[in-house]
Amino acid sequence: MRISEIGTGRIAVPMKKAFKTALRTVTTAETVVVKVECDDGTVGWGEAPATLAITGDSLGGIEAFIEWMRPQLVGEDPTRIERVMSVLHRGSVRNTSAKAALDMAIYDLASKAAGLPLYRFLGGFRDELETDYTVSVNSPEEMGEDAARFASEGYKLLKIKVGGGELGEDLKRIEAIRKRVGSELGLKLDANQAWSAKDAIRAIQVIEREGLGVELVEQPVKAWDLDGLERVTKSVDMPIMADESVFSPEDAVAVLKRGAADLINIKLMKAGGLFKAMAICKAAESFGVPCMVGCMIESHIGATAASHFAAAMRNVTTCDLDAPILMASNPVRGGAAYEGMKISLSDAPGLGIDGVEGFVPDKR
Ligand code: MG
Repeated sequence: MRISEIGTGRIAVPMKKAFKTALRTVTTAETVVVKVECDDGTVGWGEAPATLAITGDSLGGIEAFIEWMRPQLVGEDPTRIERVMSVLHRGSVRNTSAKAALDMAIYDLASKAAGLPLYRFLGGFRDELETDYTVSVNSPEEMGEDAARFASEGYKLLKIKVGGGELGEDLKRIEAIRKRVGSELGLKLDANQAWSAKDAIRAIQVIEREGLGVELVEQPVKAWDLDGLERVTKSVDMPIMADESVFSPEDAVAVLKRGAADLINIKLMKAGGLFKAMAICKAAESFGVPCMVGCMIESHIGATAASHFAAAMRNVTTCDLDAPILMASNPVRGGAAYEGMKISLSDAPGLGIDGVEGFVPDKR
């Protein structure tokens, strides 16, 4: 089994409502879909969205990287994972989104060759997951309104985006949401790097004192500020999760060695795919640090790959894989099945994806 062709094509899917964080606003999800074909006719799917504010990767940059990798990967056997991944990761730094797209297509092919769904090929710890649902950062009133609607639709865990200006405003957002959803619903916060260490500690102390029932706070400080992250983690009881501070396994080890976070958010687009994501997950496990699996504003392809990864790994204890259900439509046939907050994986080999509407590959 040898890789014979690699095609890429862009798709765009509108969001149900603008997705807003402290870093960016997305109204239409734009993503590069990659189709990797083998000489025996087997097809592997992958994707990479542009996330300039997080990874620095643009649609054009992703396509250019895949174009550069194409002659290096054609002729390689996708079942020889160690070998093909060394080809993918040698000779270039960063470009983690493009690497993730190729990596997930290669794992799709390798698990199809083994006749197994990807999550069982990788470890098969569980077959079902539950995702949270994101409340974009807006005015406290609008966020309270959104949260109440999501709660009435049956979502039991909300991820609240904060970091939109004044700290006092962020506290009002959390209070408004808690008031609207009652005390039962789980709330996580994501500041997307917007706070200083001092502000984060102050905000978390207020949240704890007022009993606002927040389960954890994700990436309170700047990605590069490991001193600040460590200070926050060691100053409060609330669990602190590293997201943008951890792209690679090496980043994870730096955070883990200094005890700078209680949890790590793994995203395929930051790690450069499943191969590196597994290394992060295993490193964290050896330090007794559980992981969440998150995603960017990815279509159903990326979210399906992330779901397989999350289901496979024992050390993944929570999921933030709501991107496909934030979108107004789904152009992907097959893949992980979403039913409210439940995600289930079928016995179909690989990712279980049968095709992508509107995908016109530019083949070489
Ligand atoms: Mg985050």
